[in-house]
Amino acid sequence: MKRPFMSRSLLFVISGPSGAGKGTLVRSLLSKRDHFRFSVSATTRAPRPGEIHGVDYYFLSAKEFTEKINRGEFLEWAKVYNNYYGTLREHVDGFLREGYDILLDVDTQGAAQIKRLRPEAILIFVAAPSYEELARRLKGRGTEDLELRVNGARGELECLSQYDYLIINEHSEEAVATLDAIVIAEKSRISNIDPEICEKIRKEGGMSLS
Ligand code: 5GP
Repeated sequence: MKRPFMSRSLLFVISGPSGAGKGTLVRSLLSKRDHFRFSVSATTRAPRPGEIHGVDYYFLSAKEFTEKINRGEFLEWAKVYNNYYGTLREHVDGFLREGYDILLDVDTQGAAQIKRLRPEAILIFVAAPSYEELARRLKGRGTEDLELRVNGARGELECLSQYDYLIINEHSEEAVATLDAIVIAEKSRISNIDPEICEKIRKEGGMSLS
């Protein structure tokens, strides 16, 4: 079932420091909502053990990445922690055309670019309970550029006011439930529903979703 809601396709953007647990939230949402598609980003970062090209990221050389910038293939791109990351325009537009909702995991620079280009995008910030907890989680998973990432978190939190929603990821079930609530609220927002569908509802007294 692609569209259990009446709303048009929506673009959700998730940001937050490394270690805040965005990945777990994203995986959980995608596993229970098949009206969502995740836009796999391109990056010049080296794959971590277990990461798969085309699933976690498209792992590109610096030359390949630059060529895509020059051809205008990115909806947004940014340098984050010594590497380049970008959202492929065609992926996002393709999924929107097919009627899916989209989830992007991008840093605060990318989120700002997307909000400028697509003001209707819904921006969600995921934070950890504290910097100490963030550092503990990052150490635990052996992330590269540890210090850079913990310091980067301070810069990212400076951008909080550009976001529409905040999720504090302390207990993951609660954070997952909050993300789900945000999705349901946005999918039920009158301004996100096609005016033609609103007209049909007015005429017919409602609409079946099954
Ligand atoms: P990681 O290297 O831990 O996978 O990701 C590092 C950071 O890059 C995260 O904050 C993540 O949100 C961000 N990121 C991932 N993909 C993109 C993208 O396509 N564009 C931008 N601007 N940031 C991205």
